[in-house]
Amino acid sequence: MSELNAVTAVERAEALNEELNAFLSIERENAECHAKEPVDGPLSGVPIAVKDNICTVGMRTGCASKILGDFLPQYDATAVERLNAAGAVIMGKTNMDEFAMGSSNENSAYGTVRNPWDRERVPGGSSGGSAAAVASGIVDVALGSETGGSVRQPAAFCGITGLKPTYGRISRYGLVAFASSLDQIGIFGKKSSGIAAVLSVISGDDKRDSTTADVGDTDFLTGLEDDFKGKRIGVPTALFGEGLDAEVREAVEAGIDWYKENGAEIVEVSLPHSDYSIAVYYIIATAEASSNLARFDGVRYGYRAEDAPELRQMYMKTREEGFGEEVKRRIMLGTYVLSSGYYDAYYAKAQKVRTLLKRDFEEAFAACDAIVTPTSPSTAFKIGERSDDPLAMYLSDIYTASANLAGIPGISVPCGIASDGLPIGMQLLGNHWSEGLLLNLTSRFEADNPLSGSPKIHSDSI
Ligand code: GLN
Repeated sequence: MSELNAVTAVERAEALNEELNAFLSIERENAECHAKEPVDGPLSGVPIAVKDNICTVGMRTGCASKILGDFLPQYDATAVERLNAAGAVIMGKTNMDEFAMGSSNENSAYGTVRNPWDRERVPGGSSGGSAAAVASGIVDVALGSETGGSVRQPAAFCGITGLKPTYGRISRYGLVAFASSLDQIGIFGKKSSGIAAVLSVISGDDKRDSTTADVGDTDFLTGLEDDFKGKRIGVPTALFGEGLDAEVREAVEAGIDWYKENGAEIVEVSLPHSDYSIAVYYIIATAEASSNLARFDGVRYGYRAEDAPELRQMYMKTREEGFGEEVKRRIMLGTYVLSSGYYDAYYAKAQKVRTLLKRDFEEAFAACDAIVTPTSPSTAFKIGERSDDPLAMYLSDIYTASANLAGIPGISVPCGIASDGLPIGMQLLGNHWSEGLLLNLTSRFEADNPLSGSPKIHSDSI
């Protein structure tokens, strides 16, 4: 990682935030404290930006929602606790789509984040603030969260690398739940090496999250430069067709050629049920969200509506006023698919198709070590372009959501610049617990394929 220190990161964030709106809080005091008394450890002094849905003691954790406002948690997420113990410095909480629901950051109660490459474009979502913070050079690494693509897609839109780990790799203790069978904390990095350093610190078994597993490997740095000769890269050609922007396709195909030229074996694979991934994702994610978000009732946390003298009225008014439009849409969809007349037709059916999607990957990984696809069908779209069309927005996750449904790891790495000057992301998917191999593949790729452009940072002080 570069020599960036936390006070410099804070200064950059302060200088750029008016333009980018990437941060909901900038933690100058924490950075100054660490500058005086650094904590020894593998990440000593490394500034890191953390998404607003990951609990931090003494720092706001509001999920960019009015219903939580500037809520202050009483405990740190396990990932945050481990970062602090390793000497890292949390320098700010980043803007996001409300409760991590979105693909563009336009659903934040605090206004949209702007893409550092082009201020008129979205940074992707839902972890757009963290992605913009890394892309604009404020920090080298940041935490985000993933339910259906919220790290990989903004990484692609912002020209950086973003990892969604295996389900169970990183504790979710202290990550505000959206859809519990899909959620994972993810990591953004300017380079894969930064991601590997952070993953080595925050991953692993945690007694406070029973979905974590003890798989032993906690060193993701040593194998980064390994030779990948003979590794089999699977290409699901059928996914390179309809709906995919031609320039994105060419850039990803060039990426596949690079792996071939450098000793990987390219094999054709098929993922026959991938057409259903968006439908399945939006049934399961909304069902789980409708249950998880029931806790925001005006009693336990944050916002409570005024002028509601009776209990039910208070619940209804609080939720009506506190949640944004997209969150309400998801709660309604989720409640609907779980209701007694529709449970079997939608929710139970979606769970069955989820199993088929998982089997597709099991079969594919019998024939290859990693699968390459585009991360997103297009480059960053314009602010406002898709905000009135939820279905068009949902299609942004077409290449990413299946990894969350199957619980496998995925990573997006920059693979080119389109003619409009915007970065393109290539996705690599691996079998469960194969983060080491994925980071090795992307690290070697980055070294040989530096992006031939850079974001437009306007502020003079940067
Ligand atoms: N864009 C997807 C959604 O809106 C994914 C979000 C996420 O991964 N948190 O649900």
